[in-house]
Amino acid sequence: MTQMTLIAATATDLPEPAQNRHLIGGRWQDSADGTVFERVSPSHGVVVSRSAKGSEAETEAAIAAARAAFDDGRWSRISGKARAAVLLKVADLIEANVERFALIETLESGKPITQARGEVGGAADLWRYAAALARTTHGDSHNTLGDDILGVVVKEPIGVVSVITPWNFPFWILSQKLPFALAAGCTCVVKPSEMTPSTTAMLGELLIKAGLPDGVVNIVLGYGNPVGSLMSSHPDVDMVTFTGSTAVGKLISRTASETLKKVALELGGKNPQVIFPDADLEQAADAVTFGIYFNVGQCCNSGSRIIVHDDIADAFVARVVELSRQVAFGDPLNPATQVGAIVTREHNAKIDGYVRAAVAAGAEVVLGGGTLEVPGLGHQFYQPTVVRGVTPDMAIAREEVFGPVLSVLTFRTLDEAIALTNDASYGLSAGIWSENVHTCLGFARRAQAGTVWTNTWMDGFPEVAFGGMKQSGQGREIGRYGFDEFLEVKSVVMRIGRTRAPWVKSP
Ligand code: NAD
Repeated sequence: MTQMTLIAATATDLPEPAQNRHLIGGRWQDSADGTVFERVSPSHGVVVSRSAKGSEAETEAAIAAARAAFDDGRWSRISGKARAAVLLKVADLIEANVERFALIETLESGKPITQARGEVGGAADLWRYAAALARTTHGDSHNTLGDDILGVVVKEPIGVVSVITPWNFPFWILSQKLPFALAAGCTCVVKPSEMTPSTTAMLGELLIKAGLPDGVVNIVLGYGNPVGSLMSSHPDVDMVTFTGSTAVGKLISRTASETLKKVALELGGKNPQVIFPDADLEQAADAVTFGIYFNVGQCCNSGSRIIVHDDIADAFVARVVELSRQVAFGDPLNPATQVGAIVTREHNAKIDGYVRAAVAAGAEVVLGGGTLEVPGLGHQFYQPTVVRGVTPDMAIAREEVFGPVLSVLTFRTLDEAIALTNDASYGLSAGIWSENVHTCLGFARRAQAGTVWTNTWMDGFPEVAFGGMKQSGQGREIGRYGFDEFLEVKSVVMRIGRTRAPWVKSP
């Protein structure tokens, strides 16, 4: 095994498995056929939740409840102030429940407990920001169309929204979508990943406590088929907002096109950080280490490839390797742990497959490169891994590995760095490290990515839109642009006075 910092199993009494049910029309329900599915913790190997397994019947019922709630105006036609009051209460309740939510999120996903706390606690701010948007939604007015005309462009909620989320940041991604849809006045049907259903179901309790009217948010637990696919095809759904893999995103886009519903997609990424010799290399090495190991590398924004200037490549990679050895891998329940378990055994094997294929194609593993056994917890972990000699044609340079595996490419000129950056089907995020503002801004303008970071990595704010270019997605999330996705635009043109000339010429 590679020399590294390892945190063995910490003696802990695990809680009883969470029991999750659907929330439909304000009522908690089991599935009509009584079926359930279980989640086995990737780190601890025991069942940590049991959830009702949704079928078409529950999905139909949830969509009908959301449709009725939207159409009768119990949420869509109340004031922004009233909507904001509920969202603010939800934010307070999230903060009061961070520990409970973070524990189950760690057990279901394998992420370190400190990162789960950060995710859940941090999400409260998304709800508060959305509350502010609820009160400040406005359109446009046109008062220069002539003395007798006033044109007003108003914004309205788009309607019933299907919210489909992945397993890697279950609560954060839900909170990037749901409060914004609610702030707009939409009603929702939510489906969390089958691997991490609990925090979404638990949020249902908080929504009820906060006074959200019945039927405004409905939660169906279960799998992509049939739940997610029916949520994407149903004629009573007006929009689908999805975060997940590019393959499923394309499927949803095709399905939704049958009824021309709006689709917003947040998909994968193969995000580069470019490092110039004049950068603060210590800061850059730390950010590269953070970018690849945060959330076990299972992160759409993972900085999974670095493009380093030839002159500094040896020293820079050596420093990243040194830092990687200091990152604490192991028991996600131990607050000292920075990197936890891989979500499934199959995914662990897939990560390893990318590394082996790269080696077979001529790349060199300078650190790690294999699964990892954490004493007392088993093998569903992967070593911190750095791969050099990667060429742009290798799968490890082009595809999402979604694990703690860093690919190193090199460059000599800014043009070359930009060409390598843009040589990808993805375009989610990109970063540049240089003390030269011309280099940074030149890169920022030409990088094909929804977010460009200069001299930082993965800094995000509710105010700043997030999303991808190319096959990383469609539409934007959070910020004003993300909020606009949930709004329809309607133009109202009004004549003032009896000035309209008749069209029909009377004899
Ligand atoms: P996934 O696509 O397998 O699943 C995502 C969700 O879609 C789950 O709830 C799943 O049950 C559901 N689903 C599956 N098949 C479906 C279908 N046919 N119709 C409707 N819904 C269906 O993704 P995942 O493995 O859960 O998550 C990892 C992926 O998510 C990675 O590719 C990652 O990059 C991406 N991701 C993107 C962002 C972003 O903001 N761009 C953020 C986080 C994760």
